[in-house]
Amino acid sequence: MADEIKYDEWGPEIVLDLYDSKTKMRGFVVIDNTALGPGKGGIRMTPTVTLEEDFRLARTMTWKCALAELPFGGAKGAIVFPQDMQKDKEQLMRAYARMAKVVAPKVWVAAPDINTGEEEMRWFAEENGSLQSCTGKPVDMGGIPHELGSTGFGVYHAALVALEHAGTDVKGATVAVEGFGNVGSFAAKFLAESGAKLVAVSDSKGVIYNKDGLDFDRLSKAKAETGAVIKYNPGQVLPNEKIFELDVDVLIPAALADVIHENNWQNVKAKMIVEGANIPIRPHIENKLSDRGILLVPDFVANAGGVISSYVEYISGTPAQMLKEVEKRVRKNTKLVLEKAKKEKLYPRDAALEIAKERVRSAMNK
Ligand code: NAD
Repeated sequence: MADEIKYDEWGPEIVLDLYDSKTKMRGFVVIDNTALGPGKGGIRMTPTVTLEEDFRLARTMTWKCALAELPFGGAKGAIVFPQDMQKDKEQLMRAYARMAKVVAPKVWVAAPDINTGEEEMRWFAEENGSLQSCTGKPVDMGGIPHELGSTGFGVYHAALVALEHAGTDVKGATVAVEGFGNVGSFAAKFLAESGAKLVAVSDSKGVIYNKDGLDFDRLSKAKAETGAVIKYNPGQVLPNEKIFELDVDVLIPAALADVIHENNWQNVKAKMIVEGANIPIRPHIENKLSDRGILLVPDFVANAGGVISSYVEYISGTPAQMLKEVEKRVRKNTKLVLEKAKKEKLYPRDAALEIAKERVRSAMNK
């Protein structure tokens, strides 16, 4: 199995391939690098998750935590979760948590990821016996509510810094947001409150567009009442992919992976792209967009609000502290990345990776 992993100067340090014969739980833990602190990373429960996917996600966490200047390394957990085992979810998670005690909380601090949330973290922490074994716990266990929108709040600050960098006033800047979930809706809300003009928003059912602006509160209401942003009035309904072609100041992909790709990057007219989603654009396509003069804030820079919030939960901080830390860290590092990219003529992702690698390297050399 370990063949699926490329070992290099950074790690991974620990790879666990777990199987519990009683529950038939099959899972992995990859602790990539702990030079900066215990590995941080969520637990993904999907039918298709592999050790290689787990490793790639763990490596991404190494860079994300380093860039956010958190005392965490990178890690990721995974449980193979076939459709026919849905009813066994709690048992699987508890079996996984028991086996993962060899690493958590000492060198791994877990969190939710796809298909895991507060309840799963409750089971994990209960079984582990330490509240420090994971973040994303329910409020009664010291968790910071997801509903505060930490990631979207960070994406909003990344967008503000990108606007400042480009010399564009946020007041009146036009914004399009793909996805109206936890990340997209909060990014849209804070930008609208700062005077930006939200001209398009999408969800799985389509895009709602109005060049004169969408009213955020009425948009939220339409989504809450009908389940679809396209029910908002007045506005023009467009197919999903059209949101990436709108002529706006700021485009925020905040839903799916690989949404700007080989066949549509040439149609992008946005002046800047702030990546709320994970991997919405492959790096070589990002570079083509940068070559066209589009300012890019890469995912692990812009969407670090979630892991910063986890850190505040880990140190038993408050929601107010969380907002302060997200703002401070996302602002500082977005600025650093954009300025380095400009000064050294680097692509933003390369600039961000250089900064993250330098921080990990210097911790490894201590
Ligand atoms: P979510 O499930 O809350 O929201 C996803 C949204 O995307 C929903 O509104 C859904 O309708 C919409 N959507 C689905 N298909 C779509 C389509 N074809 N076109 C447009 N919209 C579509 O998810 P989330 O937590 O907001 O996460 C969104 C992205 O941000 C993911 O890539 C996730 O990995 C990333 N992310 C999330 C967090 C976090 O804290 N939630 C942190 C970092 C990164």
